[in-house]
Amino acid sequence: MESTDRENAKKLFEKYRKQRDGIRNCPEMASICLICGSIHVIAKEGDSGMLICRNCGFSWYRYECSACGRTVDGRDPKNPGCRKCGMRICTCGRCNCGLDISATI
Ligand SMILES: [Zn+2]
Ligand SMILES: [Zn+2]
Ligand SMILES: [Zn+2]
Repeated sequence: MESTDRENAKKLFEKYRKQRDGIRNCPEMASICLICGSIHVIAKEGDSGMLICRNCGFSWYRYECSACGRTVDGRDPKNPGCRKCGMRICTCGRCNCGLDISATI
């Protein structure tokens, strides 16, 4: 079973290394590091909404948007950094800090 998981993780890793768009919609990518491909990913202690790779130490944001419930992933180009709080902006245009870029366009 575990080897199948690893094979699948490797495939996803290779796919999203080349094409980062869509990482947010792939639930498996919550536990795959995009830097080293490791699946040893845990929630970062004391930093809510952040995950950290236990293998290489890379950490990134991945959490649910409080406005629409969709997944926000800091590695996805469709989730740019928020200029107000530094976290990530959801595809709905909102950030959990209250910033709404859809209203300012
Ligand atoms: Zn890693
Ligand atoms: Zn949203
Ligand atoms: Zn923000």
